[in-house]
Amino acid sequence: MAQLNNGVAANITQKQPLWLLAEVTYRCPLHCAFCYNPTDYDKHTKNELTTEQWINALRDARKMGAIQLGISGGEPLLRDDIEEIVAEAHKLGYYSNLITSGVGLTEKRIQAFKEGGLDHIQLSMHDITEEINNFITNTKTFELKKKVAAMIKGHGYPMVLNVVIHRYNIGHVDKILEMAEALGADYVELANTQYYGWSLVNRSQLMPTREQLAEAERMTNAFRERVGNKMKVFFVVPDYFAERPKKCMNGWGEVFMIVTANGDVLPCHSARSLPGLTFPNVRENGLEWAWKESPAFNKYRGMDWLKEPCRSCDEKEKDLGGCRCQAYLLSGDAEAADPVCTKSPHRHLIDAAIKDSENPLLREQPIIFRTDKNSKKYAEGDRERVDQFHSLP
Ligand code: SF4
Ligand code: SF4
Repeated sequence: MAQLNNGVAANITQKQPLWLLAEVTYRCPLHCAFCYNPTDYDKHTKNELTTEQWINALRDARKMGAIQLGISGGEPLLRDDIEEIVAEAHKLGYYSNLITSGVGLTEKRIQAFKEGGLDHIQLSMHDITEEINNFITNTKTFELKKKVAAMIKGHGYPMVLNVVIHRYNIGHVDKILEMAEALGADYVELANTQYYGWSLVNRSQLMPTREQLAEAERMTNAFRERVGNKMKVFFVVPDYFAERPKKCMNGWGEVFMIVTANGDVLPCHSARSLPGLTFPNVRENGLEWAWKESPAFNKYRGMDWLKEPCRSCDEKEKDLGGCRCQAYLLSGDAEAADPVCTKSPHRHLIDAAIKDSENPLLREQPIIFRTDKNSKKYAEGDRERVDQFHSLP
């Protein structure tokens, strides 16, 4: 029988889910134009897992070797059982990270998180100006975020800020970093928008130009030189401006496992956008079956499924052909090489998107914010803007 350490089998040698992301709810008081939740999230909101089902999922994943736990949403703090989930995660030996907009974080709750053993809180910030913060989230949350940042710091947590970068705030990167420094941030992730979910719908409005991106990188490097190791700054380059794709999720079904609000088990956030796949659900299948046996998790594991040009490419081990969702959403073919790759026959779709973002007619189209009303339309089959991407020449 396997040796158990905190419930984890010590002799696991095959691929195991090291990271578990618990997307505990799709409800959110913010309406970010770049939200990474699925556009049709509304159809997954009716049936959230109960506290007990979450705790069982945490336990099962831990037995399989998961050690890092992200608790996200939507806004996880809209659930009133996060304290209980956090405490259970701590007992199970997870390193836990609450990923939040800050809305709903109170002194009482943060105290309970501290006592329950939550390791880390990641707060999203949007800009140095109230105007852009409130515009891009379609809410009035600017002052609240600063208060929450101080509260997190005050409770002795490392200050970890995540700032999604897009056309509206990319010119303020230097000031955003100064604000982070003033708030006492230890880590800042400048996450250039990647185009999935709502950000794909709003791509022409959100995408910066190549020049803006280069300038933001220059400002980031200048800031790094000034502050040295006092604050770690990650600048995540957007896929579209790269020549090779990323090894998406570090490989499909290699280390990441996501359990969504309604219990679907996914290898990546956007996987449900892919055609012809049925994902397991914790209500019907155990996580072990989902990870090891389910057809969905095995579909794009490894390299056997690759087709040309990836199959005979000498770089395939580095990126495994890139992101399946990006390939499908842009080219209509889930098995194609990620169009980001300059060796892909679909790279022109990326170049056209970059060009589109310079076109004032497209750039000035109204943003479609993440709202329940808009999501209902997508859930009912309104895919007009996304479908346009497939029909690009
Ligand atoms: S990106 Fe914005 S709208 Fe989406 S879940 Fe996060 S805070 Fe909510
Ligand atoms: S052709 Fe495929 S495997 Fe080769 S670098 Fe491009 S995406 Fe990666």
